[in-house]
Amino acid sequence: QKSAAHVVAFASAALNTIREHEETLAQMDAIAGDGDHGRGMVRGLDAALTAAIWASKGGAGVGSTLTRAGDAWAEHAGGTSGVLWGSALRAAGRIIGDDNEIGFPEILQASDAFADALTRLGKASLGDKTMVDAVVPFVVELRNASDGGQTLPNALHLAAAASFSAARATANLLPKMGRARPHAEKSLGNPDPGAISFALIVTALADNAA
Ligand code: ADP
Ligand code: MG
Ligand code: MG
Repeated sequence: QKSAAHVVAFASAALNTIREHEETLAQMDAIAGDGDHGRGMVRGLDAALTAAIWASKGGAGVGSTLTRAGDAWAEHAGGTSGVLWGSALRAAGRIIGDDNEIGFPEILQASDAFADALTRLGKASLGDKTMVDAVVPFVVELRNASDGGQTLPNALHLAAAASFSAARATANLLPKMGRARPHAEKSLGNPDPGAISFALIVTALADNAA
């Protein structure tokens, strides 16, 4: 059973891995973007963690803790990825709500809501070389693993691994959305920073869901 304290633990683990890779993400974003992706993700996650801590201390449930974390992320990150992460987390929080116990079905629903909100707002499709290319394989693999009878921790590891290899494979794609689009040729051979940061975060999530 998951509580608001779990959201805090996950946000903290996510922030740690993004801090570790901040410079790499900045360099990746500098190739065809403006180089601020590492910084933006740290700022967003830092704000999300603080909001989650306050919500959790105030007795908020999982849903409203996620929603407040999303609000804080969008407000403080700056940049496209911050707005998208914020809205997607808000959507996940709304679906989960505060009353239900959180198990595998709720995690599946929340992942679907995250992906739906992301694509509705960002309007990117699979193959456009955005974080969508890492999010969709994560959601698909999570559902496959669930259908295949895997436990939630195993399923999270499988889904995170699928997300990571898809994120790396964006190196072969040409960007169709966002700031990288006008610099399409430069981007070739390098993965999309937003896809890599998503894969890093779900990997941290899987590692902390023992
Ligand atoms: P900005 O581009 O505003 O500087 P960031 O550098 O923080 O914002 O984030 C860039 C990342 O945002 C990209 O690598 C990509 O993954 C993601 N992104 C950009 N536009 C979109 C979009 N329309 N849909 C989904 N993801 C997007
Ligand atoms: Mg950028
Ligand atoms: Mg920017």
